[in-house]
Amino acid sequence: MHNIRNFCIIAHIDHGKSTLADRLLEFTKTVPEGYRHQLLDDMDLERERGITIKSHAIQMEYKYKNKEYKLNLIDTPGHVDFSYEVSRSIAACEGALLVVDCTKSVQAQTISNLYLALKKNLFIIPILNKIDLSESRSEDVIEEIIELVKCKSEDIISVSAKNGFGIKEVLDKIVTHIPPPNGDNKAPLQAMIFDSFYNSFTGVIAYFKVKNGFIQKGQKLLFMSTEKIYYAYEIGILKLKRISKNKIEAGDVGYIVSGIKNTYEVKVGDTITDAKNPALKSISGFEEVKPMIFASVYPVTYDKYEELRSAMERLQLNDAALTFSSESSPALGFGFHCGFLGILHMEVVKERLEREYGITVIITIPNVSYKVFMKKKSNQVIIVNNPSDFPEMEKIQKIEEPYVLVSVLTKENYIGNVISLCIGKRGNIIGDQHYLTSSRIKVTFEIPLSEIIFDFYDKLKTISKGYATFDYYFLDYRNSDLKKITVLINHQKVDALSLLVHKEKAFFIARKICKELAILIPKHQFSIPIQVSISGKIIARETIKSLRKNVTAKCYGGDISRKRKLLEKQKKGKKKMRQIGKVEIPSSTFVNFLKIK
Ligand code: GDP
Ligand code: MG
Repeated sequence: MHNIRNFCIIAHIDHGKSTLADRLLEFTKTVPEGYRHQLLDDMDLERERGITIKSHAIQMEYKYKNKEYKLNLIDTPGHVDFSYEVSRSIAACEGALLVVDCTKSVQAQTISNLYLALKKNLFIIPILNKIDLSESRSEDVIEEIIELVKCKSEDIISVSAKNGFGIKEVLDKIVTHIPPPNGDNKAPLQAMIFDSFYNSFTGVIAYFKVKNGFIQKGQKLLFMSTEKIYYAYEIGILKLKRISKNKIEAGDVGYIVSGIKNTYEVKVGDTITDAKNPALKSISGFEEVKPMIFASVYPVTYDKYEELRSAMERLQLNDAALTFSSESSPALGFGFHCGFLGILHMEVVKERLEREYGITVIITIPNVSYKVFMKKKSNQVIIVNNPSDFPEMEKIQKIEEPYVLVSVLTKENYIGNVISLCIGKRGNIIGDQHYLTSSRIKVTFEIPLSEIIFDFYDKLKTISKGYATFDYYFLDYRNSDLKKITVLINHQKVDALSLLVHKEKAFFIARKICKELAILIPKHQFSIPIQVSISGKIIARETIKSLRKNVTAKCYGGDISRKRKLLEKQKKGKKKMRQIGKVEIPSSTFVNFLKIK
């Protein structure tokens, strides 16, 4: 155990985490030089978006003063939607590299992860990356790091992950300064799962860190939260490939294959113990991941429904946080009501459906989960995360909505803008503004989750000229005055366009969507009234004027093949149309509708 070092890398997007990981792996000859750029990001999507969606672990061997060390690099996801997984990866480490781009500054996400690491007593090695880009060390950034980590200027290692400068110094410091894990090899087994993924050949592969005891090949194991028993068919360590072993000891990190067919059964944060001689307690900090936002997903063309189902099922194998159930809508046909961890998670699912399965989908406006307390039957509480399940107003006693704690980091000049944005989104400032340096400030707000799932991040970027970052944590449920907005097209209610909004904003949003829909929906041979109601009362109305000319008219008598082509084109186009009564709406209307709010 004394020769094991477990560490993670904490960095903001683009500050060089993956590049640094590549260099560490090359220097320790874990991978051949130039083997593959950014080894840890193996999903296309991750690489393009520059974020780590799933975490991974990899073991390196490193010789320091004639002694061999095993260094386990545990990668962490890089986005707020996955903060629970980050917390479990951090809990598996004894140290962390804090990587900061010397031409930028410390960002909100970095700070929240750093605090998680400090709370777990991880040893922090601060690294100033990209020094090849800067003639001199940036004093501002150094000052921020010193303030955050409470270290000295000389503790900060200057690195260029690009050209390899400083890499040996980083590895030496990992060995000399990060403490070895302190488990008990003789105690009953306790191993914490910090990540898992689905492999079509082996089933689920789970990554774990052994806290106490050891895992042996063939051992009968109990997964403590699900109370299920599995056998360790294969265990081992991860290098470039899986390397199977007979035993993984206390303090070390490894993988297990036990024939499990669904990641849902393997919960991140769960404790694995020996089935015959179980540990008395599981490792603390386990939480069940729960979806935070909900939206409906429909195929753009009706006939892709079955394909969509099998794609969703396959995505879920690898993504325990994704939930879905079938539903149908008069306007959109058959689809699924889905739960996601956050907006990014939703976008990732959408993109994976498109790229990996070739299915384009319509996603309805996301909702948070509301608690609706009913009048009559005392104590009856309904969870509503789909506007079509929203009960009639008269039957409701009160409604509660989820609140989150948001921290925003920004430059002093933009603080006024940030505060107005948060107040405009029903936020309350909590505590004092905290100066990280003389010009950088952290502000904390309590704010309804529904207000930040939309365009909060984009707005924040705009009002701060890119100089603000934020992260959030779930707080609790609080009273809310909620209204349901309903859209009628040609006097017909369109469920897929309903949404739940706070009373304060209901009028504004209702009028806006009415205007926008009148632009988005194409003209027909007849005029189409668009009406928008709040809690049943119509408050906005627009009319789409009828079309005068017949589009195909000019083809008559003309070239026959041209006419056929046009008809074929129309047929194809029709598949992408949605029928609301006599009105045909292009699927893109629903997609663009998302952006209106
Ligand atoms: P991540 O998002 O933290 O994983 O960041 P990446 O490792 O993907 O790096 C983001 C960008 O910065 C990439 O274009 C890298 O090539 C570049 N980069 C990383 N480290 C360095 C460095 O030390 N010097 C320079 N000039 N560029 C770097
Ligand atoms: Mg990366």
